[in-house]
Amino acid sequence: KFTEEEQTFCNGTLTRFGNIQMCPSSGILNYGQGLLEGLKAYRKEDEGILLFRPEENALRMKVGADRMCMPSPTVDQFLDAVKKTVLANKRWVPPHGRGSLYIRPLLMGTGRNLEVKPSSEFTFLVYASPVGNGLKGVLNLMVEDNVRRATPGGTGGVKAVTNYSPIYKPLTEAKAKGFSDLLYLDALTGSNIEECSGSNIFILKGNVISTPTTHGTILPGITRKSIMEIASGFGYQVEERAIPINEVFDAEEVFCTGTAKIVKSVASITYQGKRIEYKLGAETLAQKLHATLTGIQTGVIEDKLGWTMVID
Ligand code: PMP
Repeated sequence: KFTEEEQTFCNGTLTRFGNIQMCPSSGILNYGQGLLEGLKAYRKEDEGILLFRPEENALRMKVGADRMCMPSPTVDQFLDAVKKTVLANKRWVPPHGRGSLYIRPLLMGTGRNLEVKPSSEFTFLVYASPVGNGLKGVLNLMVEDNVRRATPGGTGGVKAVTNYSPIYKPLTEAKAKGFSDLLYLDALTGSNIEECSGSNIFILKGNVISTPTTHGTILPGITRKSIMEIASGFGYQVEERAIPINEVFDAEEVFCTGTAKIVKSVASITYQGKRIEYKLGAETLAQKLHATLTGIQTGVIEDKLGWTMVID
């Protein structure tokens, strides 16, 4: 997907997408001092380009930068870099309804740094790649009973690059068994659900939609926040609370949310050999939420909450 014509925004300048120079003793290479973000640009029916809640990504990066001892770009600097990257890669924004341009900001320690201490130089870069609209498929989750994604006091609540590779092993094993993703449990009790590898989770029972409280161990997803608002606008009671794994088995519907997945129904959850199946199809709340959210993101549904930013 990456071609030489793609542009990357790196420390204030747009350059051709390609390899970057890195000091062998940089903080990111040696100690994983890095953060990532993810957001999307969508084409409207009239060809205009919209970003979805980009200032939320800027604010999340600020919180993460503080945790990872890095200076963060200001919200304006972040937005400027994202806009410039999208405009420079405008021809890669898929036609309306056919996907989006995924934008990946990175902030990392790139100074010389042999010791275990924060870097003294930093790189902020933004690159982008077109992606499909990911409408297809449902999720078959397996509850991960051994590996914990995050521990209290750790970095699970921010988008640290080091949060992801430790889950490669159980995730690869689960995928080899045919599962789509893992559902992680909390480190303290091992009995409450947290989130999946790259998405947040919701359960529906009656008129109540519940999602785990983030508590610094779950990434506060921007899709999660948006879905909570949309669902409460639909008249559902939305709760953030501890959700014991046993409660997930009585749910009517389960779905995951994230920038990549948007809203995706969970077909089944397997825990200690027990498999539970959930409601799927056009009548599900997940489908309604997906339709409303993508409608707002692509400019089809009026954006009453001011979530989208027109950039072209
Ligand atoms: N949890 C994790 C671990 C993630 O990587 C992501 C993707 N950013 C999410 C949840 C969902 O967050 P968002 O809705 O902001 O994409």
